[in-house]
Amino acid sequence: MPVIAVGRIRPSDAERIIGSGNADFISMGRQLLADPDLVRRLNAGQPDLVRPCINCFVCVAQNFWSGKPVCAVNARLGHYDQPDPLPASSPRDVLVIGGGPGGMECARVAAERGHQVTLLEASRRLGGSARFSSLTTPINNEFVEFLHAAIIEAGVEIQTGVKADTDLISELAPDVVVVATGARRDRPDLPGKDLPHVLSGDDLRTQLTGDPGPGTLRLGLLTRLVLRMSRLLGLTVDMGRVRFLSRLWMPIGRRVVVVNGDLVGTEIAHFLADRRRVVHVLESSSQPALAMAHPRRWRALHESRRAGVMFHTEAELTAISHTQVEYQQADSTHQLDADTVIFAGDVRSDRTLAEALSAEGHEVHVVGDAGDEWYIEGAVRSGHRVGAAL
Ligand code: SF4
Repeated sequence: MPVIAVGRIRPSDAERIIGSGNADFISMGRQLLADPDLVRRLNAGQPDLVRPCINCFVCVAQNFWSGKPVCAVNARLGHYDQPDPLPASSPRDVLVIGGGPGGMECARVAAERGHQVTLLEASRRLGGSARFSSLTTPINNEFVEFLHAAIIEAGVEIQTGVKADTDLISELAPDVVVVATGARRDRPDLPGKDLPHVLSGDDLRTQLTGDPGPGTLRLGLLTRLVLRMSRLLGLTVDMGRVRFLSRLWMPIGRRVVVVNGDLVGTEIAHFLADRRRVVHVLESSSQPALAMAHPRRWRALHESRRAGVMFHTEAELTAISHTQVEYQQADSTHQLDADTVIFAGDVRSDRTLAEALSAEGHEVHVVGDAGDEWYIEGAVRSGHRVGAAL
C-alpha cells in the first residue's frame, strides 16, 4: 500500500524522505500556496528560487474570516483571476531604498517587468527586520534568502552598506524612488527611558548582531569586544550562529521586562526565557499578541508560558529605575525587578525620507512598514503592488 507523507514538508526534506524509502509520495499544502511554481522550479534545477512557506498561519487564520485565500509571502494568491504584471511600457531607472522583504519584492517585480532596478541597503546584509526576526523565527531567513536569489535572478543591482540620503539620491538621479526603509521604534516618554539597561528593538538588534541601526545604544566595552571578535570570525553574520551563541553568552541581564506583548514582544520574550532569563511581559491591552494569526498565536503564547514567560495584561509601564520597573494595573501600582528592559512596541511608520524626496520633486513610493503596511505580509503585499504599478 502506498504511503503519502504530509505536514510542513519542504522540497529538501521531500528528497530525503522519498530517498529513504519511508514514503512513496509527498503531499504539500501551504508550500504550494506560497509557490505554485514549485514543481517547475525544481524541474529546472532552481531550488533556491522556490518561495518558501514560512509557517506563519496567515492563510489558516484567513479561513475563519473569508473564503478568499491569502498568503503572507505570495501576493498573487487570491488574484490569479487577474493577469500577471505586464512588461513595463517604457523601462525606467528605479531606485529602491531598503533591502527588507518589501524593498526586495518591489525590486523583483519591477525588474522582471523590464525596469532597471538598483537596490541600496544600509546594513551589510539584506533582510531588514525579517532577517533579525529569524533570530526567534529561523524560517524567516529562508524567505530572505529566496528574495535575495530572486532579485539576483531578475537582474537587480544590489549595493549593501550604503546609507541613502537625499544628496546621494539626487546624485543618482533615478526616474523613481521606492522608500522601503522600515519603521521607527520610539521609546515611550517616561522616567528612566534612557537608562543604560533600557533597550529599544533597534538597540537589541545592535546588541545581539553588531549591525549598526537607528537605535541610540552605546555598547559597553565587553560587548564591543565580543562583537568585534565574533565579526572577525564571521559569527555575527549568520543568524543561526547568533542564535546558537546566544545560548552561551548574551549581553542581556538575568531579569528582563519586555514592554509590549504583541508579535515581536512575545517572540523576544520566548527567545530570552529559552535562554534562562526570567522574563515578564507588560501588555497594555487585555490580550497579548492579538496581531498574530490566531493559530500561530495560540502556539506562541503556549510555548512562551511553558518556557516561563509571565504575561501581565492591562499593565501600563509608568517608570524605570536602575533595578526595577513600576507599572499600573487597574488601580494598583506594582514593581518588578529588572536588569534589562526592552521596548518591543511603539513601532511607527517613518516617511521622513519619502517626504524629503517628494519635496525635492522626486517621484516617490513607500512600501512596507515605512508606510503602515506591517510585518512580512504587509511588506510583500505593498512591495508587489508598487513594483507592478511602476
Ligand atoms: S500564509 Fe504563511 S503559512 Fe500560509 S502558505 Fe503563506 S507563508 Fe505559508
